[in-house]
Amino acid sequence: PGARKYTGLVEDCCCDYETVDAINEDVLYPILQQLVSLPFFRYFKVKLWCDCLFWPDDGVCALKDCSVCECPDNEFPEPFKKPYSGLSPQNMICQGGKPEATVDRTLDSKVFKGWVETDSPWTSDDETDNAKMNYVNLRLNPERYTGYTGDPARRIWDSIYKEKCIKYPSEDMCQEKKALYKLISGLHSSISVHIAYDYLLDKSTDLWGHNLPLLYDRVLKYPERVQNLYFTYLFVLRAVTKATDYLEQAEYNTGNPEEDLKTQSLVKQLLYNHKLRSTCPLPFDEAKLWQGENGPELKQEIQKQFRNISAIMNCVGCEKCLLWGKLQVLGLGTALKILFSVDRENNLNQQLESILRRFVFI
Ligand code: FAD
Repeated sequence: PGARKYTGLVEDCCCDYETVDAINEDVLYPILQQLVSLPFFRYFKVKLWCDCLFWPDDGVCALKDCSVCECPDNEFPEPFKKPYSGLSPQNMICQGGKPEATVDRTLDSKVFKGWVETDSPWTSDDETDNAKMNYVNLRLNPERYTGYTGDPARRIWDSIYKEKCIKYPSEDMCQEKKALYKLISGLHSSISVHIAYDYLLDKSTDLWGHNLPLLYDRVLKYPERVQNLYFTYLFVLRAVTKATDYLEQAEYNTGNPEEDLKTQSLVKQLLYNHKLRSTCPLPFDEAKLWQGENGPELKQEIQKQFRNISAIMNCVGCEKCLLWGKLQVLGLGTALKILFSVDRENNLNQQLESILRRFVFI
């Protein structure tokens, strides 16, 4: 109800709504659906223990029955600190006691090789301690309704939008700050769309399905939120196309040559797709930003704000929301880095290597 048709160019981008819909439907969605099912992109390396820097009394640490917290030593049973110790699903329930919020860690008892991560100026990287990290199979943990709501969830969003990082955009806000706001708002819309797409409709029968009223109330009712979703999509797509040389040559090595060849071939199909290249060759023009005389200072300021946002993710008190929040903020941070921080190609390759490694399954 009330869904309207969007036409014309996506604000501050270089492609129109109809084109985005067409390339998404015909090119990106089908290829991405296959890519995310392959081992290279199926597993994500992440630290799920909380170490929220902003408020001590919330987040997973506040919930004593959560199996993934790293709380003060005297407060938490030793076995619970281990990555996966065969705990029953019941013991793993946390974040308000909702089973649907819990990450299925079936595959994460793997040992990591000592990887070296490159720090990004855009994100707050606390992911260097391999001992505290898990591989999570994203297919077993789809982004969907988790029941994480009320004051704790609101506090995260408020703190992202208002307190620490970015103000709601105003007329005189510069283009760069507006872009940051739109990226976050687009991410927020995407999260809401996923919740509406896969919602627990009936708890007693465990019936899951679409929740259209929720989709309307949280996203469609606000044209700006829909527009920002398109903006974020095009921003990330531009970063992907800019990194073509690297992504084409990257080794997608998971030890399964057949699957890895498929991954490489699908990545190439995406990057060199004729329809994408001919209808939306420059999804977003990053060269238009940072042109003012205070460009460098502004970049540092916005970098700091985005780092804050990535640090706030550690305060998300729902394990599955934390997983997807971190993954998506890492993705946006990588896009920001590709578009705004990397000048030389060598540098780009080196830096992307460490990020792609977060997905490699060894
Ligand atoms: P919220 O979505 O919490 O929004 C709070 C306020 O922000 C709104 O009142 C509005 O003023 C403003 N706002 C809303 N959308 C936008 C937008 N697109 N642009 C600008 N402003 C906006 N819940 C799940 O069920 N599954 C998940 O996977 C999940 N992941 C999450 C990940 C993160 C990082 C966070 C912070 C929360 C997550 N949540 C998840 C919770 C979810 O996002 C909502 O907070 C929750 O469902 C409560 O929704 P709400 O109606 O109170 O509004």
